[in-house]
Amino acid sequence: MSSDHAKVVVVSGPTASGKSTLWQRLVQHPRVDFSVSVTTRPPRDGEEDGRDYRFLSQEEFDALVAEGVFLEHATVHGRSYGTLRADVEKSLEAGHHVVLEIDIQGADQVRESGLPQVSLFVQPPSLEVLRERLLARGTEDPEEMDRRLEVVEEEMAQSDQYDHVVVNDDLDTMIAEVEDILGLRQKA
Ligand code: 5GP
Repeated sequence: MSSDHAKVVVVSGPTASGKSTLWQRLVQHPRVDFSVSVTTRPPRDGEEDGRDYRFLSQEEFDALVAEGVFLEHATVHGRSYGTLRADVEKSLEAGHHVVLEIDIQGADQVRESGLPQVSLFVQPPSLEVLRERLLARGTEDPEEMDRRLEVVEEEMAQSDQYDHVVVNDDLDTMIAEVEDILGLRQKA
């Protein structure tokens, strides 16, 4: 992949749609990076600072906003999240695709940035399947789960703003589809 082909890969989708599993598989390719977002939400069990997110206080986050270092930033479920422009540029300059797992507001801002990009919306097969996955994950308390499910329908209605909608019915099938979209399955 030459740097001419390196792209920002925007991945959005409802909570528990499988978008995290998707990017975790994509970054196994040597020329695919993940942009570690900054957030003010507290870490979940098993999450590591610097690997999953950079966990900052609201004051620290606001200072970064004031410095203008974000490519995009948004408030999601009442917490602040953002992508650092320098991280993305570093990957693109190295000729790597860089995956941004961000919400719809962030995707809009990235679209306006003019950077080379492709956007993917990961859709669960149905709302029932999504509810089951969320319950199985068990990382949200019931109140937080209801809050997240409430916005899902709204999010799904905006999937037509994306270059590709991929349905996560079978994980391996979806990953193969995305690898094709990104040109990652061309053999040397
Ligand atoms: P979670 O708290 O479950 O990890 O993420 C909640 C939501 O925030 C998800 O929709 C996720 O895609 C989004 N998100 C995570 N990082 C960023 C970011 O840097 N920017 C934006 N705009 N959204 C983000």
